Amino acid sequence: MKIGIVGLGLIGGSLGIDLRSQGHQITGISRQETTCKTAIAKGIVDRASTKFDLLQDLELMIVCTPISAIASTIKQIIPHLNTDTIITDVGSVKSPIVKECSQLWSNFIGGHPMAGTAESGIEAAQANLFTGAAYVFTPTEQTKPENIAKLKAIALDLNAVPYICDAQIHDRAVSYISHLPVMISASLIQACLQEPPDTLQLAQILASSGFRDTSRVGGGNPELGVMMAKYNRTELLRSLYSYRDNLDEIIDLIEAESWDSLAGVLKVNGEERSKFLN
Ligand code: NAP
Repeated sequence: MKIGIVGLGLIGGSLGIDLRSQGHQITGISRQETTCKTAIAKGIVDRASTKFDLLQDLELMIVCTPISAIASTIKQIIPHLNTDTIITDVGSVKSPIVKECSQLWSNFIGGHPMAGTAESGIEAAQANLFTGAAYVFTPTEQTKPENIAKLKAIALDLNAVPYICDAQIHDRAVSYISHLPVMISASLIQACLQEPPDTLQLAQILASSGFRDTSRVGGGNPELGVMMAKYNRTELLRSLYSYRDNLDEIIDLIEAESWDSLAGVLKVNGEERSKFLN
């Protein structure tokens, strides 16, 4: 398939590597000439340009810019596309993007590959990033079934697991498993920083795998974290309030020295956790 990728960063670059290795012909678009050269040199794309005139004859266009730039990017590329080109995005929030972009292009289908790292930019692009991960698509009533079938096939080429759902339900679920953890992890690091210098220094020396696991997502790309909060604000606030209520319950149990009740909560969590990690 002839595929275009706009935004050759972590996700766009990683998609390019894997899709190209599956025999797809990849055209990359970057705002910077140096990124185009790097993308070609690293084998991420077959060809690349800072202009949009290479976009004719593409079957699929994947928009991999930050969430705030997805709709404006689509507006810019539309005059250069064939009318039957499918446009999808990879933004971590779906409802507002699907709402706006479906109006711009009838063959738009929202997408979200559920994989990433704390790095950003083309240098962070890596092979096999999506292996085993869910790849969500959020069609609307107007979506042509054959277009969804093509996107599912692309997800399978990435060794990802395609999953179809409603954009709003996606945003609510993803808030709990992706956006809320970023905020919790960030507030954990912030809480540590409130400690006096001698305690903080010792904590930094002693921190090991437990802290590495729980702080990892809070130390990632700040721009992405702000975008999650801005574009998924309602669902993120809902999950944060629920988290705060649960934290208050744990505080109450500890203050009341209700060790059996606390053990009960921890036991349930131990049993339930595995269901999120299959
Ligand atoms: P990234 O590494 O920063 O890549 C985004 C690329 O978009 C940049 O390298 C840049 O490429 C281009 N870009 C930046 N600002 C732009 C603007 N204002 N207008 C047009 N292009 C712009 O970020 P990423 O992590 O790949 O994230 C890209 C998208 O993937 C986001 O929508 C995010 O929600 C989604 N996503 C991220 C993750 C994750 O864990 N990181 C996971 C799933 C989905 P040029 O400078 O070459 O133009």
